Amino acid sequence: MKLKKGDEVIITAGKDKGKKGKIEKTYPKNDVVLLPGLNIFKRHLKKRDEKNPGGIISFPRGIPVGNVALICPKCGKQTRIGYKIDKNKKSRICRKCHSII
Ligand SMILES: [Zn+2]
Repeated sequence: MKLKKGDEVIITAGKDKGKKGKIEKTYPKNDVVLLPGLNIFKRHLKKRDEKNPGGIISFPRGIPVGNVALICPKCGKQTRIGYKIDKNKKSRICRKCHSII
């Protein structure tokens, strides 16, 4: 996974398309990222007993990495991530402005 926690991204597909957020968590196994306050789904629960009174609960759902694009912190543009290998160190670079990000 090219994205990491703290990256600012824009959602490019789905119900929150066009919204921006900072990655709160990544799930590399599933290629999913979690953005706080975005991609919230609501579920209605039936009352089962006194401990579970039911109601509506909201929960965030991860967004597939294919549905988000990185916003470069240097040039502020929506970009793709490239890699540069320098003295055995792998750096992420912005494909637009070529800054290390
Ligand atoms: Zn850039």
